[in-house]
Order: sequence, then C-alpha cells, then structure tokens
Amino acid sequence: MLTTTGASLADSAPTELQTQTIDLALAQSQVSESIDDTEALAARRTEVTDQSALLQGRQQEAERVAREQERVALAKKKEEEARKKAEEEARKAAQKWVLPMNNYNFTSAFGQRWGRLHAGIDLAAPIGTPIVSISSGKVVKISSAGGCGRQVWIEHWEGTITRYCHMDYFSVNVGERVGPGQKIGGTGNTGRSYGPHLHFEVHPNGMNGGPTNPIKWLQAKGLGV
Ligand SMILES: [Zn+2]
Repeated sequence: MLTTTGASLADSAPTELQTQTIDLALAQSQVSESIDDTEALAARRTEVTDQSALLQGRQQEAERVAREQERVALAKKKEEEARKKAEEEARKAAQKWVLPMNNYNFTSAFGQRWGRLHAGIDLAAPIGTPIVSISSGKVVKISSAGGCGRQVWIEHWEGTITRYCHMDYFSVNVGERVGPGQKIGGTGNTGRSYGPHLHFEVHPNGMNGGPTNPIKWLQAKGLGV
C-alpha cells in the first residue's frame, strides 16, 4: 500500500485505523493477560484453600488424638484409683480382727491357776460350736498331742500366733490360708478338759515368744470378750 508520496504506510505516521488496530490488539492482549491472571489467581486460591483445609484437617486430627489420649489417660487413672481402693479394702478386710467364737460362756481367765499359768482364756460352748480364725493367716500346726487336745495354730499376717485347743474336729489343714472369721473347726472336750470349751491362746511374738493375756490383747484390737 503506497501513499501518494510513494512511502509505505509503515514508514509514515499511523493512520487512525492503524492506531485503532494497535489499541485493539493492546486491549486484547491486556484482556488475555487479565484472563491468565484470573486463572492463576483462581488456581492459587484453590491451592491456598487446599492447604488451609489440609492444615485444618491436621489440626483437627491432632486435637482428636489429644482428646483421645486425655480420655485414655483419665480412664487409666480411674482404673488405677479403683484398683488401689479395692486393694485397700481387701487389705483392711484381711487385717480385720474378730472373736474366735460368737456364742460362749466365759469360764476362765488368763493367769495363775492351781499353781501354774493358765496360758489362755476358756470359752465354753456345746460340742461342735464353730470356732473361727480371729484374722487372716496361715495354719502352721495341727496337733492332737498333750493336754491341749486337738488344736490348731495360726500365724497371722502381722506375726502373732493364735492357738485353739480342745477341739472336736478340724475344718482346715496345715499350710492352709484362712481369713478373719473363717471356720477352722468345732469346740470339743479333747485333751485335759472338763466339759466342751475352747481354750484360746495368743502368742504375739510367734511360736516361741510366750503367751499373753488374750483379753487385753483383744481389747487393744477393739474387741471385748
Ligand atoms: Zn484353758
């Protein structure tokens, strides 16, 4: 396309049409760029949203794990407390002291009698009346020898030995563990005895420690004979 001067249009100043064309192209390019920007922005937004969703998810998971750990720890603590309480109750129950018989007539005290030591107390009751261990312990001896007749020796949890004499029958064996109030046999008239009764001895320092007054000893445990 030549002008009247022969110069090409490109060399001369732009015509209005050309200017418009350039403006349009520029405008189109800008629109295009702005479309690209919008898409990039949208993509970026999506990315950010995804990341924050991921972060939020992680945080929620961390919180859930923390809550679960707290719940488990609390349950464990409660379980431990319940176990300790049960143990304490079992210990208290095992260390409880009771009288060797429920129904009896007190017939003889501890002390000198007929020129020798009466080493225990006598509780009279009809033959076969239940005799019980006064606390938890282990049956360390069963014998039928001597003036004491059929007898049971029990070593208790804190070291004291109790001896039950003149029994008619035994309900336990040597080595057996017994609890407070557990029946060990029945009253009888065996050995040197003049009528069915329980002769009961307390040896606070074990088998060879010597007997003590059972009434005073039982009173110290809160028990009245
Ligand atoms: Zn006696």
